Amino acid sequence: MGQKSLGSLKWVRHFLSETPGDQISGGAPRQVPGACWSRVEPEPMPNPVLRMWSEEMASDLCLEVGEAGLLAGNGKVEGMDPYAQRYGGHQFGNWAGQLGDGRAITLGEVDTGKGVLELQLKGSGKTPYSRFADGRAVLRSSIREFLCSEAMHHLGVPTTRALSLVTTGEEVMRDVMYDGRPAPEPGAIVCRVAESFLRFGSFQIHAMSGDDKTLRALVDNTVSQHFPDHSSDSDQGLVEWLKEVADRTALTIAHWMRVGFVHGVMNTDNMSIHGLTIDYGPYGWLEGFDPDWTPNTTDSSTRRYRYAHQGEVGAWNFARLLESISLLMEEPRSLHEALDSYYESYTTHSRRMWAEKLGLDGFQEGDGELVSELTSVLQSTETDMTILFRMLSSIQGPDPNHLGRAFYDVEEIPQNEWNSWLARWWERVDGRPNRESMLNANPKYVLRNWMAQLAIDAAEKDDYSVAQALHGMLKKPYEEQPKNEEEWFNRRPEWARNRVGCSMLSCSS
Ligand code: AMP
Ligand code: MG
Repeated sequence: MGQKSLGSLKWVRHFLSETPGDQISGGAPRQVPGACWSRVEPEPMPNPVLRMWSEEMASDLCLEVGEAGLLAGNGKVEGMDPYAQRYGGHQFGNWAGQLGDGRAITLGEVDTGKGVLELQLKGSGKTPYSRFADGRAVLRSSIREFLCSEAMHHLGVPTTRALSLVTTGEEVMRDVMYDGRPAPEPGAIVCRVAESFLRFGSFQIHAMSGDDKTLRALVDNTVSQHFPDHSSDSDQGLVEWLKEVADRTALTIAHWMRVGFVHGVMNTDNMSIHGLTIDYGPYGWLEGFDPDWTPNTTDSSTRRYRYAHQGEVGAWNFARLLESISLLMEEPRSLHEALDSYYESYTTHSRRMWAEKLGLDGFQEGDGELVSELTSVLQSTETDMTILFRMLSSIQGPDPNHLGRAFYDVEEIPQNEWNSWLARWWERVDGRPNRESMLNANPKYVLRNWMAQLAIDAAEKDDYSVAQALHGMLKKPYEEQPKNEEEWFNRRPEWARNRVGCSMLSCSS
């Protein structure tokens, strides 16, 4: 018996057989009304080389080998039936019409025996949804997606996964800062994996054109395949399903807040119906704790997708999904219940996580003030979020000097504010914070932008050792890992403060 390869997986076709698709295969960019997908073949790549591989994801799929050619879209195995999904979306608050998988191509769905997972290549060529773009992805953004989605998984944050990263041997032109200076970059393809890549925008696109028939087919397929405990055949059934979507969405965003992650582009086409973190583009991690921070230069004037606004944006996006589903309901007013439940879920999850981060025995009256005072003292001088919470998790007494490493300038530690907050917290926890819960809620290692950039700089010189090392380290983000401490448990180095790719990211990827 050979090793288990893509050809030995059990490929199935639920989505293609249960929802309406495009009559034409492949072809030029176009509008595809009435369809949920278009069949399309990945474009062959000249020289695929497997660079990164997730053992954990492979093992969930019962895969033992990574076949670079297939993972770059060269050829197919029996059962694969590649397609691009059609969806729309609100981008930065405005309805943008048809978007769709412009450079993602699903190879197919795999029945793992424990559930169905979709395998999708990102960067493998043009589709009817490519609009004016090339259907390609570059190495830099592929490394960011591979490392961050796997890191998020190990942090316990719901996310799409990455199975592999393959370089294509092609050069791709990109204008990183949109300043009219495009340059060639190495091309790459990530194979990503999720229950599905359905987004809020997958539903919106049909509702926006009043196509309730296609919307109905898509909702029925989604609920029966992915939410088997729910039913889509009555108003009440739909509301209960949407409450589940609300809860999953709220949970994921609460986790982002817990670990200091900023998605950067929370358009409704980037909101997973499963509540997974999806579409890793110009995301970033808080270094100095700044609620107004966004990594996305495209959003620098309005900061719609800033760190502290993510919970509220989740509600706005969810409301757009509700509007879409209202088309299928006799009494759409009951959708208010679902929106209320989003806020309830978000509050419940956030409180639980704050309690864990601070080692409290549950979130009680008055703890809201403890949290808001903390977030304000965190902003009084530049303070590293990850280091601060990690050091707080093992602090021996209420003394800010024990947190020194978290401050950019130790001369500037606001002693009075910290002394008073620490004293209040210490009293609240009776001098005995629940350290175990703190150590499991406050990661020691996250994928700071400058860390990803170091991995990218090396990989662009054909050296994948930094990316591999980070991949390994980020599998255990809550463990001490003393050998990694000096290098990676650190504040942002000065060189990264204003460097493109570290403090500034664009959507160009
Ligand atoms: P994003 O900002 O990555 O969520 O992408 C928004 C839309 O642009 C999606 O429909 C993408 O598929 C599409 N898109 C982004 N980059 C490319 C590309 N290089 N080629 C084709 N479509 C793209
Ligand atoms: Mg997207």
